[in-house]
Amino acid sequence: MTTIKQDDLDTFIDYAVEPEDREKARAMIRHFSEDPLVTNLLSSFYSSLPDAKEDCILQIFQPEHHQGTFLFLIRTNLSAYFYMVNAREAKLVATEGEGLPQEILEFFGFADLESFQKKHGDFGNHPDYQSEFAATCPACYTTDGHLHELGCPVEVCPWCDGQLSGCNCRFEKLGITEISNDTQIQTFQKIVEKKGRIPFDAALHRPSYPTAGDDKLE
Ligand SMILES: [Zn+2]
Ligand SMILES: [Zn+2]
Repeated sequence: MTTIKQDDLDTFIDYAVEPEDREKARAMIRHFSEDPLVTNLLSSFYSSLPDAKEDCILQIFQPEHHQGTFLFLIRTNLSAYFYMVNAREAKLVATEGEGLPQEILEFFGFADLESFQKKHGDFGNHPDYQSEFAATCPACYTTDGHLHELGCPVEVCPWCDGQLSGCNCRFEKLGITEISNDTQIQTFQKIVEKKGRIPFDAALHRPSYPTAGDDKLE
């Protein structure tokens, strides 16, 4: 997906949202303009309305994430939809009524829809999404204390403290001079997991964390 700029998103609103809701929709876009995950989510929704009828997002929830991939639920005037979102794109997965497909439930560590619903209920008590962007990895958007997407340039190498995607350790551990296929990447993933991957540390890699964006502390 190409990156959609704020101006383009603004234009989509004219087509996607009823006149009386446009100011509300634009306010949400501005509010999350520094958050690439929500910007991807809003772009995906407003550029390609799931029900092809004018609609407006009322609430955003972010119930789960796994490394750099996030599950969002949005409530709109017409319905509620699940989206999978990462740094590059946002994809519509299902309506809330349909429930999540099995492969996505498993991706986020749930055995079935029932265990997901048991944890999240009907979202009635869920707080609205608060952008934690200041506490996310600047490259893969995993959050504080969690693992990066493998290959993220910010991930620290557990052997040499260098950049895991840039140092020579992967070649040394695999005993090869270049990585040319997925099997080698998978083998390396097992080796580095056994050694112990280093999770994202927001305090270390985001110097302004945790006060970024918090005007009250300035
Ligand atoms: Zn990362
Ligand atoms: Zn290394």
